[in-house]
Amino acid sequence: YLGAIDAANQTFNAYVAVTHDKARDMAKASDYKLANGEGGALEGIPLGIKDLFGTEGVHTQACSHVLDGFKPRYESTVTANLWADGAVMLGKLNMDEFAMGSSNETSYYGAVVNPWRAGGSNRQLVPGGSSGGSAAAVSSWLCAGATATDTGGSIRQPAAFTGTVGIKPTYGRVSRWGVVAFASSLDQAGPITRDVRDAAIMLKSMASVDPKDTTSVDLPVPDYEAAIGRPIKGMKVGIPKEYRVDGMPEEIEVLWQKGIAWLKDAGAEIVDISLPHTKYALPAYYIVAPAEASSNLARYDGVRYGLRVPGKDITDMYEQTRAAGFGREVKRRIMIGTYVLSAGYYDAYYLQAQKVRTLIKKDFEDVFAAGVDVILTPATPSAAFGIADQDMASDPVKMYLNDIFTVTVNMAGLPGIAVPAGLDAHGLPLGLQLIGRPFDEETLFQTAHVIE
Ligand code: GLN
Repeated sequence: YLGAIDAANQTFNAYVAVTHDKARDMAKASDYKLANGEGGALEGIPLGIKDLFGTEGVHTQACSHVLDGFKPRYESTVTANLWADGAVMLGKLNMDEFAMGSSNETSYYGAVVNPWRAGGSNRQLVPGGSSGGSAAAVSSWLCAGATATDTGGSIRQPAAFTGTVGIKPTYGRVSRWGVVAFASSLDQAGPITRDVRDAAIMLKSMASVDPKDTTSVDLPVPDYEAAIGRPIKGMKVGIPKEYRVDGMPEEIEVLWQKGIAWLKDAGAEIVDISLPHTKYALPAYYIVAPAEASSNLARYDGVRYGLRVPGKDITDMYEQTRAAGFGREVKRRIMIGTYVLSAGYYDAYYLQAQKVRTLIKKDFEDVFAAGVDVILTPATPSAAFGIADQDMASDPVKMYLNDIFTVTVNMAGLPGIAVPAGLDAHGLPLGLQLIGRPFDEETLFQTAHVIE
């Protein structure tokens, strides 16, 4: 894997730091354990880690200039869990700055290139975002699996764009401790892997209750792998009519119908459902997420971490540091966030968005209470698009529309998985999404395995 990274990383730009020595030391320790018949569930498995996870003594910058040179003195709970199970760290993976984006183009370290190309074209495509480095590295065999995070779709959308599997677990399933915060009430970590079984194995290792994250939930972590291969006969699969959005390409509809047919053939019962508040999810998300981000990002002041640009006094130093340290998209989010939280606008925007969030959650609760076991939707409204796409670059709202099928899940705190389901007319991967009941990741693995 280290050789493959050295040979291919210039092409894909998936890694922002490669930990050669650490990887060899960890692998040697694993060899020793395995030779003695010991070792954990992930013994010797080489993983890439999204740059958002704090890794002790190793590059952790959320791919932002403002964290220049930052090497934490702690290890995130997720990565500590992985190392405890024997996994080997290959390095830190590229991502959108502070996980804000859907194309991995907002990274201070430059865009990640999707290993997939449209048939007959040399045009470079984005791998999706914000976990674009994770998805590209898995898809191009530069790691066996990768950690990722999902605030509004950042695991599932890049998985769909690269033909990989990505699961965002239920909010509270995985500890957020030591992971750089974007929007704390929405952020959740999960794996990106090459197949559903790998995702089940890796999530089991990542998930834990953690006294250091008060929102982590004290429920036993099931053996997710055991769910794979269980028959889905009699399972009730909901198809939400609100996900049939205007302007959705024909091929996405075709893919969705194929998914429905596969599950039906496997014995599932297909039911039409309604999630009436879906259309408000994206606008409400783009109030809640920037509001929380503006508060979380207040700590980057040039004093405690990373970059410091000297100024004539301390206020000037703060301003100079933040002006130089944050990229355009991050600044846009901070401005939106501080605006919607400010006196006079709080009630009109933030409070309203929180109410909408409750309604979105209730839509899902009603459907699950009526007996639906799992919901099937497309993962994204299109296949991967080109790097520096003019439409998206000139209009941030077009970029935000990528999350139309994924943000509802974060708003409701539910688990969602993206699973590769076929190719478009140009040979690019497309994904389907399954949404489950809180803490019922097992049903997602069980059903996703039927689709993959
Ligand atoms: N694309 C969304 C955003 O930019 C979601 C990002 C994420 O899930 N981290 O906010």
